[in-house]
Amino acid sequence: MKTTARWIRFLLWVAVFLFFSRQSISWAQPVIYEGNQLLDEFRFHQWATIRKPSIILTYPPKLAEQATVIADEAEKTVHDFQTSWGWQIEQPVHIYLFPDRASLRERFGWEPGVSASGVYYAGAIYLLNPDCWMNQTASLKENPWKWRQIFHFQGPLYHEFAHLYLDQLTRGNYPRWYTEAFAQWVEYRALGYEWKTKANDLRTHQSYSYRNLDRLFDRLPNQALAYRESFLFFRYMVQTKGFKRIDHFHRMLAEGIPFADAWRQCFGRPVEQSFDQWLNQTLSG
Ligand SMILES: [Zn+2]
Repeated sequence: MKTTARWIRFLLWVAVFLFFSRQSISWAQPVIYEGNQLLDEFRFHQWATIRKPSIILTYPPKLAEQATVIADEAEKTVHDFQTSWGWQIEQPVHIYLFPDRASLRERFGWEPGVSASGVYYAGAIYLLNPDCWMNQTASLKENPWKWRQIFHFQGPLYHEFAHLYLDQLTRGNYPRWYTEAFAQWVEYRALGYEWKTKANDLRTHQSYSYRNLDRLFDRLPNQALAYRESFLFFRYMVQTKGFKRIDHFHRMLAEGIPFADAWRQCFGRPVEQSFDQWLNQTLSG
């Protein structure tokens, strides 16, 4: 019955969307999210679920032990966001746990070779079985404490929940580079983690311009560098303007003010100028 009611609600959303779609694209978001949710519930209806106050974790029954730890960690992550950011989640967050790289790739229709430990998409979080990226550095059976520690500090929960938080707050009112910058900064603050490799060392690589980051983020060949620049630029803004100002900026995005306008009003200059100022300081420092 509950599912039927949700299908009816979804179809009503579609009707409303079709009616208003010529007027505002923001109508699309709840329709897409609700549709995505219904399809995933249908796709994975034979899997098991763990329900907690803030999350619903769906997983293949053979991953019951991993799922117990992950559900616990996810609930704690939501709680951490609630206390740090005053975030009230609208409804429990759906999380799907995939047994291997192939099944996660199939869910998103990725090319062979593409992989991730976590994905945020349309209001839900998709996780790869952590054993796939831990590479046998810990065994959940033999050393559950170590397994949990590695998952906590190296797992993708903070990163993906940061994407979810920003999306729920602003209804997607930001460019791609910005949500990746914010998610990396949340990880950095909560866990001390930074994505640093030889490939994204700004001293030895020609940096991307703001224009390129803004327009072509996912298509830039050196993704590690694109992510690193976004993160360092965002961190610089937090350091120089303070987090309260960033939070105010997010509230402006939540009101629907276009990203570039909100930036200019909040930080007193166009975003390109802020970016160039950060880059010049970084390269000369
Ligand atoms: Zn991300």
